[in-house]
Amino acid sequence: MSKNVLIIGAGGVGNVVVKKCAMNPQYFDKIHLASRTVAKCEALRREIGERITSVHAVDADDAGRVAALLREVRPDLVVNVALPYQDLPIMDACLETGIDYLDTANYEPKDVAKFEYSWQWAYQERFTQKGITALLGSGFDPGVTNVYTAYAAKHYFDEMHTLDIVDCNGGDHGQAFATNFNPEINIREITQRGRYWEDGAWHETDPLSLREDLDYPGVGVRASYLLYHEELESLVKHFPTLRRARFWMTFGEQYLTHLRVLQNVGMTSIEPVEFQGRKIVPLEFLKAVLPDPGSLSTGYTGQTSIGTHITGIKDGKAKEVFIWNNCDHHQCHLEVQAQAVSYTTGVPAMIGASLMLDGTWKRAGVWNMEQFDPDPFMERLNQHGLPWHVVEGNSPIRFQHG
Ligand code: NDP
Repeated sequence: MSKNVLIIGAGGVGNVVVKKCAMNPQYFDKIHLASRTVAKCEALRREIGERITSVHAVDADDAGRVAALLREVRPDLVVNVALPYQDLPIMDACLETGIDYLDTANYEPKDVAKFEYSWQWAYQERFTQKGITALLGSGFDPGVTNVYTAYAAKHYFDEMHTLDIVDCNGGDHGQAFATNFNPEINIREITQRGRYWEDGAWHETDPLSLREDLDYPGVGVRASYLLYHEELESLVKHFPTLRRARFWMTFGEQYLTHLRVLQNVGMTSIEPVEFQGRKIVPLEFLKAVLPDPGSLSTGYTGQTSIGTHITGIKDGKAKEVFIWNNCDHHQCHLEVQAQAVSYTTGVPAMIGASLMLDGTWKRAGVWNMEQFDPDPFMERLNQHGLPWHVVEGNSPIRFQHG
C-alpha cells in the first residue's frame, strides 16, 4: 500500500509533523512539504535531509492552486497544518482530486472570530460520494481530548454526564509575552466570550470571567479560566448523555495583564484600520512583532498537563475518571527542536495520518476524532511520545463550580 503524505504548513506544528513522519517510515514512504514561504520548507529539508521528498510554495487560500499541487504530487493524504482559514480551500482541492484530508483546527472565516464545525460538516455528503475521508481536529485539543472522551465512553462508563477538559501550560519560556501557537489564532480564541454546554443549551460568559484553581498532576495549582473550545461542539453532539461540558485553560497573571493592555489599546482587533495610506489589521500586525512560537523552545522549561475529567454512571453507580498527559518542553526541544504545545499538536496529527494511511481509520465522509475506535490511537500515543495516565475516582482535578 502506498503511503505518501503532503503536509501543508511549515510553522511550529508543521516542524513537528514533518519530523515525526520522517522518524516513522513504517507509516510514511514519501513526505512532501508545502507552505506559503517555501524557504521554511527548504530549511526543514536541509535539517532532515532526503526523508522530505519534495518542497513546494503554495498559497492554500486558493483551492485551484492546491488542486494543481495535488495533481502534481499525487499524495494519498493531505495533512493541513497551515491556519484554520485554509481548511475549506484545501478540502475543496481534496474533493476535486479525490484525496483524503486531515487537519488540527476547525475552519474560521478571517473577518469573523467565530469557530464552529458547520462549514466543514457541510462537506459530509460530498466526501462520502467521492469515497474520501476527512479527519477533523487531529491535534491535542481538539484531538487527543476527543479520543480520551471516546476511550472513557468505551471502557469506563455506561453513561457520561459531565465533561471538563483541562489544559495547563505550566512552562516558562522566559519571554515577557508570547503565544505558544499562531498568535493571531490564539488571541482570537481567548478574547471571545466563554461558552459551555449545560442542560441541553449553550450558556455564555464574559471572556475569562469564570475561574477555577485546579491542581494539575506534576505541575501544581494553576488559575484556569473557562473558554469556548471547538471540541465541545462535536463532543456534545456525539455523546448526547452529557449534561454539562466545559473547557478550562490556564493563564498566568503576567500573560493576562499584557493581554488586557493590548486589548485596551485596540491591538487585538480584527477590524482593519488605516495606516500610512493602507489598511492593516491590528491583530495581524501584532503577530508580526510577537515572538514566533516555533522559536520559543530553546530554554523553555516545565510541562504541559492536559486532560479530560468525566463523571457519569457505570453499572448503576456514580463514577469519575480522569485521563491526562504531561509533556516536558525541554524533552520536546531535545527530540524535535519544538516546545510542548507544538509537539502535543504535531504528534497526534502524525498519528491520525498514520491510522488513515494504514486503513485503520478509513471511512468515506467527514469525521471528528471521537467517531472512530479510540484504542489504536491511544496505543500509538504511548508509542510516539505522548504517554497517558488514567485514574478512576480520587482525581487530582477538583472543581469549586460544581
Ligand atoms: P504557525 O503560524 O507557526 O504556522 C502556520 C504555517 O502555515 C506557516 O508556515 C504559514 O506560512 C503557513 N500558512 C499560512 N497561511 C498560508 C497559506 N495561505 N498558504 C500556505 N501556507 C500558509 O502556526 P502553528 O504551527 O502554531 O499552528 C498551525 C495550526 O495548528 C493552526 O491551525 C493552529 O490553530 C493549529 N493548532 C492546533 C492545536 C490543537 O491542539 N488542535 C494546538 C495548536 C495549534 P508563513 O510561514 O508564510 O506564514
